[in-house]
Amino acid sequence: MSIQHEIPSYLSSHGIGPWGDYLEQIDRVTPYLGPLARWVETMKRPKRILIVDVPIERDNGTIAHFEGYRVQHNTSRGPGKGGVRFHQDVTLSEVMALSAWMTVKNAAVNVPYGGAKGGIRVDPKTLSPGELQRMTRRYTSEINIIIGPNKDIPAPDVNTNEQIMAWMMDTYSMNQGSTASGVVTGKPISLGGSLGRREATGRGVFVVGCEAAVKRGLDIKGARVAVQGFGNVGGIAARLFSEAGAKVVAVQDHVSTVVRESGLDVVALQEYVLANGSVAGFQGGEEIADRALFWATDCDILIPAALEQQINVDTAHTIRAKIILEGANGPTTPAADDILHDKGVLIVPDVIANAGGVTVSYFEWVQDFSSFFWTEDEINLRLTRIMREAFTSVWQLAEEKKVSLRTAAFIMACTRVLQAREMRGLYP
Ligand code: NAD
Repeated sequence: MSIQHEIPSYLSSHGIGPWGDYLEQIDRVTPYLGPLARWVETMKRPKRILIVDVPIERDNGTIAHFEGYRVQHNTSRGPGKGGVRFHQDVTLSEVMALSAWMTVKNAAVNVPYGGAKGGIRVDPKTLSPGELQRMTRRYTSEINIIIGPNKDIPAPDVNTNEQIMAWMMDTYSMNQGSTASGVVTGKPISLGGSLGRREATGRGVFVVGCEAAVKRGLDIKGARVAVQGFGNVGGIAARLFSEAGAKVVAVQDHVSTVVRESGLDVVALQEYVLANGSVAGFQGGEEIADRALFWATDCDILIPAALEQQINVDTAHTIRAKIILEGANGPTTPAADDILHDKGVLIVPDVIANAGGVTVSYFEWVQDFSSFFWTEDEINLRLTRIMREAFTSVWQLAEEKKVSLRTAAFIMACTRVLQAREMRGLYP
């Protein structure tokens, strides 16, 4: 029996941007899903979307309103799971795409979660610490009805961190009347956070990067690395590559680009960014004014670790890297994917490359439930094993089906999600 469907109004106007990219990725994988393709529409529409108004009183006595979202894309395999982004360009379409990529990622690395994501359209740098806290708490109260340790578990993303997670956990707990540490992950260690969580996404990027380098016959020692986005993901990945003997020759953030032929001192750059908010003005390298030149960096490994659609038809042509490790979510458009494929560039897709964060979030959630905490070595060992296994099984599937790693990861993930969907059946 076929499934009849109409396109909901909020989806019809979202065919472009990150959500459009995601839909195209699903279309590309559908021919490989066999009989499960009957259920593929499940992947193309979020299960639940909540749009909330987030009003706060500013320090000067005026009232400001921000638009917030929480999207639960799919919960067939478990509770929703995914980060919260505070950024001036956040849109519903972007959060929908990010939530859908979480569904695919969680299934690709086989952690028992569905996919979700949240965000507020705000530049948090324009808020005082008090305003930031009030906004975070009001947003949490507004989405309180759909989150919970067994329902949907937020985590950090762009411009959110351990402090934001602590406020979210506290706000949710105050509404519940008891401390619910498992409602968010990426918390401070003192509140039930996990050792190794802060570094987990960057570490995962490094682990799959080493696997990819072996496949391409590239020695990490001496390899040239370029990183876009020098925050949690890009900063840690750059540090680990540098510690392994690679040369980080270019770093770009939202303000500037710094380069150094002999390799930047990554630790000094991290300290500089912590103190100054950006790489701009760093004396240990040369600043280049033309941002587009970053993509043409002569490098072996390129790590986009900032925002979506950075590698597009304009930038893809200029890329000289042999390997791209997608630290960011959705950094490469489908058209750019094709260009890079023709150039023989190996892309380790976001849904594998940056899955280290959600993997250790899963460890954190498990530790919170049992109130029993693991050592950092245990965390890193388990993380490394899961990342390597995911990379290897996706690599093997890609060879077997003669498809890209992205398509292979999507085949594996969609199969798991849609099998769960089929086994559960439709209610009623
Ligand atoms: P972050 O806020 O810690 O850092 C973001 C970095 O990107 C900053 O260095 C910022 O300057 C830079 N940036 C922002 N806009 C830019 C632009 N237009 N051009 C160049 N650089 C720009 O965020 P993060 O947690 O490191 O997240 C980065 C990416 O990784 C996002 O795509 C996020 O969804 C993804 N990701 C994060 C995690 C996690 O655990 N934090 C997990 C998986 C994926």
